Amino acid sequence: MIQPKNKVVIFLGPPGAGKGTQAERLAREQGLTKISTGDILRDHIARGTELGRMVQPMLDAGQLVPDAILIALIRDRLAGMEPVRVIFDGFPRTTAQAEALDMLLEELGAPVSAVPLLDVPDETLIERIVDRGRQAAARGEAARSDDTEEVARKRQQVYREQTQPLIDHYGARGHLRPVDGVGSMDEVYRRIMATMP
Ligand code: ADP
Repeated sequence: MIQPKNKVVIFLGPPGAGKGTQAERLAREQGLTKISTGDILRDHIARGTELGRMVQPMLDAGQLVPDAILIALIRDRLAGMEPVRVIFDGFPRTTAQAEALDMLLEELGAPVSAVPLLDVPDETLIERIVDRGRQAAARGEAARSDDTEEVARKRQQVYREQTQPLIDHYGARGHLRPVDGVGSMDEVYRRIMATMP
């Protein structure tokens, strides 16, 4: 049965496109739960859990964590949620993850509402990520260990190879909403809002 209150938004876009920040605001203003798989994995690493110890080298190398791990994490997160009101940030990242999510959402009677795709040129992306690393350091905070130019380039490559095919997956289903991701945070947010159902 489909619950009218359900809402499922999936943010797509390359690393450094600003998905996390925009998803955070959209979640707050629309009463949705943001599910960021990068944050969940980093939290495991910070707490030194068994999972965290296992995935740390993968994050540090800019590689993807195996699909089965991510799918189990998401299944747990969604279990018992009613209504299902979520924004995914950083998931799905592979076709296998997208197909698993489709099945999970069907079981829950919560179809995809929209898939904003944040478009940002490659060179801007690397600059933003390296800046983010530097700014954290300047504030005396620990930068994300994968926010270096070398790992950022690797993450872009992984995005092109493994995640870009999802543009076709959601495009074919009529869910994709391309958004120009260059501009101020507010401008980009307004463009995203304009695509929401
Ligand atoms: P960004 O999009 O800025 O690169 P994220 O915080 O979304 O950063 O992800 C950081 C890292 O966490 C990825 O490079 C990858 O190693 C891991 N990761 C996050 N989400 C997934 C996912 N859905 N599948 C596989 N690995 C993931």
